Amino acid sequence: MKLIFEISVKGRRAFDLEESKVPSYTLKQTRSDYAELPEVAEIDVVRHFTEMSRNSYGVDNGFYPLGSCTMKYNPKVNEVIAALDGFNNVHPTQCCKEASGINEVTETLIEKLCVLSGMDSMTLQPAAGAHGEFTGIALIKAYHQDHGDTARTKIIIPDSAHGTNPASANMNGFEVVTCPSDSEGGVDIEELKKLVDKDTAGLMLTNPNTLGLYDKNILKITQIVHNAGGLCYYDGANFNAIMGICRPGDMGFDVVHLNLHKTMSTPHGGGGPGSGPVGCKAFLASYLPLPVFGPRPYDYDQNKSIGKVRANIGNFPVYLKAFAYIETLGGDGLREASQLAVLNANYMLAKLKKEFTVAYDKICMHEFVLSLSDIKEKTGASALDVAKALIDNGIHPPTMYFPLIVHEALMFEPTETESIETLDHACEVMFKIKKQAEQNGEALHNCPVTTIVGRADEVNAARNPILKYEQ
Ligand SMILES: *Cc1c(COP(=O)(O)O)cnc(C)c1O
Repeated sequence: MKLIFEISVKGRRAFDLEESKVPSYTLKQTRSDYAELPEVAEIDVVRHFTEMSRNSYGVDNGFYPLGSCTMKYNPKVNEVIAALDGFNNVHPTQCCKEASGINEVTETLIEKLCVLSGMDSMTLQPAAGAHGEFTGIALIKAYHQDHGDTARTKIIIPDSAHGTNPASANMNGFEVVTCPSDSEGGVDIEELKKLVDKDTAGLMLTNPNTLGLYDKNILKITQIVHNAGGLCYYDGANFNAIMGICRPGDMGFDVVHLNLHKTMSTPHGGGGPGSGPVGCKAFLASYLPLPVFGPRPYDYDQNKSIGKVRANIGNFPVYLKAFAYIETLGGDGLREASQLAVLNANYMLAKLKKEFTVAYDKICMHEFVLSLSDIKEKTGASALDVAKALIDNGIHPPTMYFPLIVHEALMFEPTETESIETLDHACEVMFKIKKQAEQNGEALHNCPVTTIVGRADEVNAARNPILKYEQ
């Protein structure tokens, strides 16, 4: 498929607007030349974007078990609600009185998310999970500094953690200390005890973790960190496994981020839009970013705040979708969604286990991790090859080579919105690919063969990215 720049013909237009009767006003020009925009007819635009949409794969096309990303189906009605004129046409600087609907949605959403996560206060501002982590760790830093505890320079993070965790700690100026996992896939308690000290600012952890396993020692873990004077941060990206069942606040966590785009009905991927609200216990509330949303909406009068992390109040349409999702499902519905997410994952796991090796063979939460080391050794076909072969069978690959502690990892998260037929079909496809690997492992190196772009050179793409179109 050609780029729209490549079909551009000088002077070609979709349509010309009539000469405007409004007097013209020239903005201060800062660029030396006009932008070189593609020049195309209307039909070219329509065909170009229609073809692009047909060539891309999303939840609306088929099964998308991308572990840790919660690629569930998002009800279309929530998109309609987010697009309502009354919400959509409010200007970000319209004062709170005129925008009382916005305030009500924001306030109610904060209230409900606090109940669900077991937190006392919350900001909705961060634009994604990673941004939430950065904000949450900044709260922990502000707390220690406020208490003159400047020697606390280290954040402890399990070796199964998502890569954004160490990055967020690091961006806040902390040193990252890695805590190994035990043979069960949870935090190694004895190692954790050795790692905590007077220099521990806190711990970052996701539970269930990225192996899809719930850490039964969680109360012990948070206690060990608290006893050493550290605070506990909960990465809530896996919240889809526990909604309405248990709460990070009750597990002993002080700060939490949630990924509304993963758990609460915003289609995601390709860079946005997202929302990563950060909740905290009452003793941290005074450090939350500005403006604080409380009894007085848009309160900028908090001198201990870490400051501003996002323009205005954040990605409001995402809040609306989360609000609509929570209101339509209700408490019982949210719990059921999580229960079904866990059930679907265990159903798939039980089937796949007959032919594949499970990294940690026990009952999982909303996702599970296979290790294809044995298959690679026997057939030469790697986890990457199997993932690419799934594409040829109309299924989006699971998350590959993550978590890092599992070799040849494939991480499946089917989510609650998939039917038993879809799960059965996906398992059958996995068995078929395994058979193909056994017959001719080398052949899978070429997959995918049904897509416009075949096997991409991922190393080269990462090391030498071409980010700009040049004629
Ligand atoms: C997705 C994810 C994140 C980061 O969230 P983004 O919204 O992608 O920034 C953090 N931790 C875990 C476990 C995740 O799955």
